[in-house]
Amino acid sequence: MELVSGLDTRITRVRCRVLDLPLPADFHPAWGRNEIQRSFLMTLVEVETEAGLTGVTAAEAGAEAAISIDRFVTPHLIGQDAAAPEQLTGILKDAEILGSPVYCVEVALWDVAGKAAGLPVSKLWGASTDRVPAYCATGEVRSPERRVEDCHRILDEGFKAVKLRFHSDDPREDIRVVEAVRRACGDRLAVLVDANQAGVLPGLGGHHQWTFQTALEVALELERLGVVWLEEPLPRHHYTGLRRLRERLGTLQIAGGENNHGVHEFKVLIEQGCYDVLQPDAVLSEGIYQLRKVAAFAESAGLLMAPHTWTHGVGLLANLQLVASIPNYSWFEFPHDPPGWPASALSQMLTEKPTIDAEGFLAVPDRPGFGFTLDEELIERHTVASFG
Ligand SMILES: [Mg+2]
Repeated sequence: MELVSGLDTRITRVRCRVLDLPLPADFHPAWGRNEIQRSFLMTLVEVETEAGLTGVTAAEAGAEAAISIDRFVTPHLIGQDAAAPEQLTGILKDAEILGSPVYCVEVALWDVAGKAAGLPVSKLWGASTDRVPAYCATGEVRSPERRVEDCHRILDEGFKAVKLRFHSDDPREDIRVVEAVRRACGDRLAVLVDANQAGVLPGLGGHHQWTFQTALEVALELERLGVVWLEEPLPRHHYTGLRRLRERLGTLQIAGGENNHGVHEFKVLIEQGCYDVLQPDAVLSEGIYQLRKVAAFAESAGLLMAPHTWTHGVGLLANLQLVASIPNYSWFEFPHDPPGWPASALSQMLTEKPTIDAEGFLAVPDRPGFGFTLDEELIERHTVASFG
């Protein structure tokens, strides 16, 4: 086998560690159907090579991801060239048929490729920018008064955009939050809205599925209020509904795709005219380079890419390198909703935590690979299981 890079990047080991990471206070996720979250699980994956370069990635999942990788991926990766991800991505597609999706592994392969080339992955792929405008993604449903208070803080922190959650039984209550924020902050703070209607979790209860009529009424109201985008107004395969909704709108963008997977599904979403802004996630959806192919389809259709990033700091940085390599990026999701889920909680496994600058931009790490810097001491402390 001829290795792509000059270094010996043949894979010697794939190590998975399941982490249970604490949150600083109770968190009530709007999408969580009455759940109270006090910690979150992730599986840290390290792909080690002969030359000593290690690729890093992480799944937004617990032992089920580690077991899938250990059983269906690792045996096929050992001895292969990590710096040739396009030769290996088929292994990840096969693994999805057999176990839980493990597409995040492709990130570790590109991390090795970037390190072998001595370049950040965004520069390897074209370097369209070295910073992106970030929006503050909130995760809880709160009263208009509390959100206005939050938004004053968010402005002080440097953000130029906020995302609010719509999950009240009566969406008119959520609209009152947008009205209050628009009144208090005006054009200093762009407003985005997420309805999380695309991925209904059956069995958990507490979810209020919107009809097309509800989605349309909310969308028209948000357009009147000058909102930038409405995210996931309908189920993720309701292609005709999404297209019909989009046809009724002018300035309001329809965003979505965090629960859709892969090149083929996004091709359908684009051809059916479902979204203005596509939101696949590099650690959830068929591999990061596969999403770069989706970005090219999107570019040719005049659409924007704004990946979902609410997984963990590793996922956030992977998505950041992806958008920094394409011309059609949009607002970048920066999860931050203190006290339960501040940005520091999402990135607690990193020693160098992504932060926005005074203008509300997020700088792309200028380190080889994806620029992860792991806090080994913290990771050791919160490891609950190991594989490989
Ligand atoms: Mg979302």
